[in-house]
Amino acid sequence: MKLILATKNKHKAEEFCRILSPLGWQVIPQDEVCPPDLEIEETGSTFAENAFLKAMGIYRATGLPTVADDSGLCVDALGGAPGVYSARYAGEGHNSDDNNKKLLREMEHVPDEKRTARFVCAICAVFGEGDILRCEGACEGTIARCLHGQNGFGYDPLFMVGERSFAELDGAEKDAISHRGRALAALYEKMKSRKEEE
Ligand code: IMP
Repeated sequence: MKLILATKNKHKAEEFCRILSPLGWQVIPQDEVCPPDLEIEETGSTFAENAFLKAMGIYRATGLPTVADDSGLCVDALGGAPGVYSARYAGEGHNSDDNNKKLLREMEHVPDEKRTARFVCAICAVFGEGDILRCEGACEGTIARCLHGQNGFGYDPLFMVGERSFAELDGAEKDAISHRGRALAALYEKMKSRKEEE
């Protein structure tokens, strides 16, 4: 099965391919089939709403089955922030280093036992106007006091699961426990049931 992936984030695209290719799905990044200036506005207030907006936007632009994820980091001591604003936490035009620096600053005085957080990923797959699958996945962890590891992207160097950060895991280790890995495993199960019903 071929699926257009509604993202311009090359790290997310890598993870989608890594997880879905062994399951026999061919993931085609949106830039291969859409004009480069096509932007879908993420105006939702939840991960699920934004995943739907992205998947439906690219489905309507291409007429092809499309999958999207909206994901982010929810930190308990910050009332769930950065949440749906994870990509632009330090402001529009800032990068992951700036986001991580801001997170470290905001968490400076938070004691160890209150540094709990979770990555959340909502996935939406659109096969037709009324043919939509939705799934979510989460991964619990804590926020470190400095960067750990070189792998991954975004907040990975600050997100600890046990003794290691996401950026200290290899791809397969991250996929086995990550929010995105779990959401995609749920999507796979829903896709199997959908096929059986056909
Ligand atoms: P989105 O493209 O609006 O879904 O933005 C997601 C943002 O959340 C990314 O830019 C990262 O900052 C953060 N994020 C989501 N998933 C991960 C992950 O697996 N590792 C690290 N950061 C992530």
